[in-house]
Amino acid sequence: MRASSLHAPTLRDPPRDAEVVSHQLLVRGGFIRKSAAGIYSFLPLGMRVLRKVAQIIRDEMDAAGAQEVQLPIVIPGELWEESGRWAQYGPELLRLQDRKGGDFCVGPTHEEAVVDLVRRDITSYKQVPLCLYQIQLKFRDEMRPRAGLMRGREFLMKDAYSFDVDVEGAKAAYEVMRGAYTRIFERCGFDFRMVAADSGNIGGSLSHEFQVVAQSGEDAIATCDASGYAANVELVPLAAPARAEVDPKAPAPEVVDTPGAKKIDSVCKALGIGPAALIKAVAFVVDGQTPAVVFVRADRDANEVKVKRHFNARTLELADAAWFAKATGLKPGYIGPLGVHEAADKAERLLVAVDAEVFAMPTAACGANAVGQHRTGVVPSRDLAELPAADLRFVVDGDPSPDGEGPLRLFRGIEVGHIFYLGTKYSEAMNATFLDEHGASHPFEMGCYGIGVSRIMSAAIEQHHDERGICWPVALAPFEVAVLALGKSDEEQAIAAELYETLRGAEGLDVLLDDRPTRPGVKFKDADLIGFPVQVVVGRRASEGFVEVKVRATGARVDVAIEGLATQLGRAIRAARDGSALHLELGA
Ligand code: ATP
Ligand code: MG
Repeated sequence: MRASSLHAPTLRDPPRDAEVVSHQLLVRGGFIRKSAAGIYSFLPLGMRVLRKVAQIIRDEMDAAGAQEVQLPIVIPGELWEESGRWAQYGPELLRLQDRKGGDFCVGPTHEEAVVDLVRRDITSYKQVPLCLYQIQLKFRDEMRPRAGLMRGREFLMKDAYSFDVDVEGAKAAYEVMRGAYTRIFERCGFDFRMVAADSGNIGGSLSHEFQVVAQSGEDAIATCDASGYAANVELVPLAAPARAEVDPKAPAPEVVDTPGAKKIDSVCKALGIGPAALIKAVAFVVDGQTPAVVFVRADRDANEVKVKRHFNARTLELADAAWFAKATGLKPGYIGPLGVHEAADKAERLLVAVDAEVFAMPTAACGANAVGQHRTGVVPSRDLAELPAADLRFVVDGDPSPDGEGPLRLFRGIEVGHIFYLGTKYSEAMNATFLDEHGASHPFEMGCYGIGVSRIMSAAIEQHHDERGICWPVALAPFEVAVLALGKSDEEQAIAAELYETLRGAEGLDVLLDDRPTRPGVKFKDADLIGFPVQVVVGRRASEGFVEVKVRATGARVDVAIEGLATQLGRAIRAARDGSALHLELGA
């Protein structure tokens, strides 16, 4: 490809709404353009990267025995009624009607569509195992689309679904996918971790996420170096610490005035204590109607996955303060565990739980359930013993690993893939069954396996960039080599063109020839911004048989003889297509 005819509009400045580096560079480098919040077009460079990611995924899915299909983008609402998700799936589901008034949705995920496809044709145990996949645009009306392709509303996903006759079969399919995913993310050149995860909305019990290590990631991961334990922090269980011993001489709690102090900072200031000595209340709505309050140490965060499980909730949301005050008569900002039931209206409706760590606090302060007042001198193991204790908080750095092997370390990650064992949740609801060898009917055992194809582009840039632009790994680069034709003379232009032809022809590399009639500075800047792994600069010394080769990732530059260069480049670049770092040792 020649740059003079490539549509790659680069920009000097990032768009104003781009805070995350990958978002800035994708727009500046001419990979994507925004259409609406969370909805993007892909320009030719963006398409080239997407195609490389998709090819890696196709290779590994095919090798794992999965077969590519294409399910509909617009899915009949009836299928979602059958699975029960028409009512369950919230406002993320884009619903629409056709001219006859029939309900449809734009697929955010395709369990219903694939189960409907399979149940029509697969009726015997002899026809499984079967694993189908597709690479397709999804639409989820995300509440907060952000960071460009990282959390889009329209985004490209690879989703696969496995069908087996029994649990062992489904678990074997899961293991095959686990291996395939590991190879896919290695081939993308990622530093990533596979972590145990919550099964979320999709349901089922066994689930792992593939997390790319990056500061800008939305997820927090906990790992234990000693044991190799790794899990999404949402999931990490904490053993209850020993309850504080009660000093028989400890005085009873006292109520003190704390006028205007509602926030943790101001309460701590008013009482002269740190947040580790304060108990805070977090108010929730369970199943859209029941008020619930959870008490945790004020320097900790309530973990919604744990809270949801504890209350056995179908849905859980943080409560709006005004709604909660109306529903319970309690005053947000002053809610405390001691006497909370007595203070609440319709106390029998109010759900209450206390994080187990609170009972390890020797003495604590908390809200007094009256405006402008707090309690001090509360001894939780003495005064709150009647309230239910549970593991309800997020882990923090240094908490003990659940396997007892040492402390946990926390880091941030970008979820690029997610695998689930689903069981018979969808096959049962949608009556997708097969006959076994005795003629008895059973629902299929299923698994589902997603990869954020467009999110991978963002994640790769988060891991591979510098102040000048993107440093694509060879495996994902839109072009592996850029030949920058700087010389003005016909001879120099001809040398650049010949090198370009050899690299793409004989060596089979993806090469861009920058033949634009622009200043050298513009070509250097664009090449660094777009992030070609290797740049070959054909300049003044070309007529003497020398060019400059620059490796983008390391910044190393060497003058090398044109003679033999193509072969060396070809060898090094082909070797790096498996996701490993580029090793280029060029003699002068
Ligand atoms: P998240 O927790 O990030 O919302 P999810 O659990 O909803 O993800 P899945 O339903 O498992 O995601 O989707 C499979 C994969 O699709 C995810 O691992 C992720 O890489 C990608 N993905 C999910 N939502 C988005 C989005 N809004 N934009 C881009 N990629 C996404
Ligand atoms: Mg989601």
